[in-house]
Amino acid sequence: MREETRKRIEEELSGFPICEYAFLRPEELPFSEKVRYICRTECPRYGKSWACPPAVGSVEECRKRCLVFEGGFLFTTVSEGADLENMEALLALRGGHEAITRQALAVFREHFAHVQAFSTESCAICERCTYPDAPCRHPERMLPSVEGQGILVTELAEKQGLSFQNGSDVVTWFSLILYEGEKTR
Ligand code: SF4
Repeated sequence: MREETRKRIEEELSGFPICEYAFLRPEELPFSEKVRYICRTECPRYGKSWACPPAVGSVEECRKRCLVFEGGFLFTTVSEGADLENMEALLALRGGHEAITRQALAVFREHFAHVQAFSTESCAICERCTYPDAPCRHPERMLPSVEGQGILVTELAEKQGLSFQNGSDVVTWFSLILYEGEKTR
């Protein structure tokens, strides 16, 4: 990415409530079958959404798709005063992070021909996901989860210097935007 493009993106994102961010190379993304094992054995969304495994393909397929991109933008937002025991309330807070992810995605789309965003947790656009009986209703809006790709988010955050823990009543949400094909003006 040209330096001037990076500066413009940073300026355009500066009004967003982003907590921390890092630009990275896709080769730095830590993929692991361990994450997929956790999805399969612990996540109630496994096999329930087009945004999650196994619909997104194997970890190796996800890795290959990510490596096609030339760069990545990892960022966090936080929700303070969260009741970590109340899953419904937590998921309601996540809506704000999803909205910011879509806005950040729009910024990157202005500058790059090919952009893919991954957000946190699973897709919740439809009350009931069509998986596996019919195609996704909103493929252009659906944001697959970062973890669902097999990416170790804790390790990634640590490597990129982003805080995973921001307080006992704070939820830290992660999104990743991959981009390639810089547009010249
Ligand atoms: S947009 Fe709807 S159909 Fe597509 S993954 Fe999300 S919930 Fe499922």
